[in-house]
Amino acid sequence: MKTALITGVTGQDGSYLADFLVGKGYRVIGMLRRLSLENYGRIEHLADRMELAQGDLLDPTSLETILREYMPDEVYNLAAMSFVPTSWNQPVLTGEFTGLGVTRVLEAIRIVKPDARFYQASSSEMFGSIPETPQNESTRFSPRSPYGVAKVYGHYITVNYRESYGIFACSGILFNHESPRRGLEFFPRKVTDGVARIKLGLSNELRLGNLDARRDWGYAGDYVRAMWLMLQQPEPGDFVIATGESHSGREFVDTAFRHVGLDPAEYVRFDPQLLRPADVDHLVGDASRAKATLGWEPEAGFEELVRLMVDADVERLTRVAAQPGTASIPAV
Ligand code: NAP
Repeated sequence: MKTALITGVTGQDGSYLADFLVGKGYRVIGMLRRLSLENYGRIEHLADRMELAQGDLLDPTSLETILREYMPDEVYNLAAMSFVPTSWNQPVLTGEFTGLGVTRVLEAIRIVKPDARFYQASSSEMFGSIPETPQNESTRFSPRSPYGVAKVYGHYITVNYRESYGIFACSGILFNHESPRRGLEFFPRKVTDGVARIKLGLSNELRLGNLDARRDWGYAGDYVRAMWLMLQQPEPGDFVIATGESHSGREFVDTAFRHVGLDPAEYVRFDPQLLRPADVDHLVGDASRAKATLGWEPEAGFEELVRLMVDADVERLTRVAAQPGTASIPAV
C-alpha cells in the first residue's frame, strides 16, 4: 500500500484528491493547520478512511516531523493562500505560504525522504497578461498579482530541486477548476451560490465586478486525476492541465441563471469595489503534453460544470432553509 501526504487537504482540491487516492487504495495522510474552529467540512465523509496530521507551511519542523512519522511515497503540496484578490491585501503572507512554503516542503523531503515523489500546485495565473494564446509549458510567465508572482517562485523552486537534487518533482500548471466544494469567495461559486439564493427567494441581487475576463474552467474532480498521473510517470516533468476552451465571466453568469430559468439582467449589479488592481484578460490552456504523455482528458464540459454547481447549491440551500429556526443561511 502506498502512502500519500496531502497538504491543504481541507481545501477543494485536497478533498477531491483524498477521495481519489483513498479510492486507489492509498494510505492517505492529510496535513492541516491548527485553527480555532475545526474546518473539516470537505473531508468529514473520509473521517474513517484517512489520517490527519497537524502542520503548517510556515513551520519547517512540523513538515519534517510529519515526513519522519509517515515516510510518504508521494507528497502533494496543495496548501497555499489561494485567493488572488487577498494576495494584494496580504502580499507578504502570500509570499510566505504560496512561495516560500514550497521550499519548506521540498527541504523537508530533501532531508527526510528524498525518494518521495512531489507534486506542486502551480497555476495559470503565472501566465498573467501574456498575449500568446493558448498557453503551454513553454509560454513565458508574466504574473499580474502577488499570488501569481508567488506561484512562479513555487514553480521554479520545484524545477530547481528536481535539477539540483534529482528529486522526482513535478509542477502541474492547472487552469481554473471548480466544483460544489469551491470556496464561496471565488467567482464561479459566488455566482452559483448567488443564483441558487435568488431562485429560492433568499436574495434579490448578485453583486459582481469584471465580467469580461475569460478563463479556462474545468472540473476539480478531473484535475486531481492529472496530479496523480504526473507522479506515476517514469520521469518527472511539468504539465499544463486545461480544457482548451475559454469562457467569459458573463457567459458563466448567463449559463447559471438560464439553468434555473431566470434573466441575469434583473439581478446582476456591477460593483466597482470588486475590481482587481490588475486583472488578467484571457487565459486558455493547451494541455497537449498532458494528453500525449499522461493520457489525461477532462471529462466534464463547461455547461455541465455550471449546471452541476448550481444544482448542488440549490440542493444545499433548500436543505438548510428547511431546518427550523434558520435566521440566515450559512455560507457552507
Ligand atoms: P483552497 O480551497 O483555497 O485550499 C487551500 C488549502 O491550503 C486549504 O486547505 C488551507 O487550509 C491550506 N493552507 C493555507 N495556508 C496554509 C498553511 N500556512 N499551512 C497549511 N495549510 C495551509 O484551494 P484549492 O482550490 O483547493 O487549490 C489547491 C491548490 O491549487 C492551491 O495551491 C491553489 O493555489 C492551486 N491552484 C488552484 C486552482 C483552482 O482553480 N482551484 C488553479 C491553479 C492552482 P485552511 O482550510 O486551514 O484554510
